[in-house]
Amino acid sequence: MNKKELFERFTYLEKQIGELYAQFGELKGNLVQLIEENHHLSVENHHLRKRLDSETKEQDGQDNELLHPEAKATAVGEGYDNLARIYEEGFHICNVHFGSPRDEEDCLFCLLFLNKQQK
Ligand SMILES: [Zn+2]
Repeated sequence: MNKKELFERFTYLEKQIGELYAQFGELKGNLVQLIEENHHLSVENHHLRKRLDSETKEQDGQDNELLHPEAKATAVGEGYDNLARIYEEGFHICNVHFGSPRDEEDCLFCLLFLNKQQK
C-alpha cells in the first residue's frame, strides 16, 4: 500500500467514523424520546387504572378515597419509585438533563429532585 492509498484509506475511515457518530447521536435522541414517552405512558396508565378502579368501587357503592385514604399516599410513592427506578437505570430525571444517560457519578440535580419528591 503506497502513501497515497494509505492517506485515502484514512480519509475514508474518518468519514465513516463521522457518519457513525452522527448515527449514534440520532439513536440517542430516539432513545431519549422513547424513555420520555414510556414515562408519560406509565404515568397516564397509572392515572387511568386509578380512575377505573375508583369507578368500579363507586359502582359497588363504596367511596374509595374516603374509605381508603392511604390509596392517595401510595400513588405518590409509586411516582417516586418510578423516578427512582429510571435514575437507577442510569438516566437523568432532573429538569436539567431529563432523559439523557447519566455518567457513573451521581447527579446533584437528580438527587435534589428525588429528595423533593420523597417529602
Ligand atoms: Zn440529573
